[in-house]
Parts: sequence; C-alpha cells; structure tokens
Amino acid sequence: MAKLTFRTDLCKGCGLCVNVCPKHLLVLAKDKLNKKGHSPVEITDMNQCIGCAFCATMCPDCIIKVEK
Ligand code: SF4
Ligand code: SF4
Repeated sequence: MAKLTFRTDLCKGCGLCVNVCPKHLLVLAKDKLNKKGHSPVEITDMNQCIGCAFCATMCPDCIIKVEK
C-alpha cells in the first residue's frame, strides 16, 4: 500500500492533483482552511491509492510525497 503525506500548510487548493487522480481519491477539504487561507487537499481513502504518483507529479508546489 502506498503512503501519501501532504505539506498541507503550503497547498494552494488549485485542484490539479484532484483532477489527475485515476482513482478519484483526492478532494479539497470543505471544512478547513490552511494558514494561507486555502482549502487544502486531502485523501478520502488511503487504502485505495495505487501509488501512481500522478498527483505528486502534477502538483506545481511539491506538496504531495508518495512512498510505496
Ligand atoms: S498516488 Fe495516484 S492513486 Fe494515489 S492519490 Fe495520487 S494520483 Fe491518486
Ligand atoms: S496539493 Fe498541489 S496540486 Fe493539489 S491542490 Fe494543493 S497545490 Fe494544487
């Protein structure tokens, strides 16, 4: 199983990673804001992640780290 970690405080909520996930596992948090005032990305079900790292590759700010 892959493990994802997010530098949540630096996420700008652009949604690029959300759109690229083939498993549709990423969402922008509806109920929280980070220090920058953005809704940060979060994963809905880590167990479903296939570790493809498309999300990490897409993120312009290197917020997501994927470990297998
Ligand atoms: S590693 Fe792949 S499957 Fe997992 S959250 Fe990122 S894009 Fe989705
Ligand atoms: S993790 Fe990166 S690509 Fe995803 S919403 Fe945040 S800044 Fe955008």
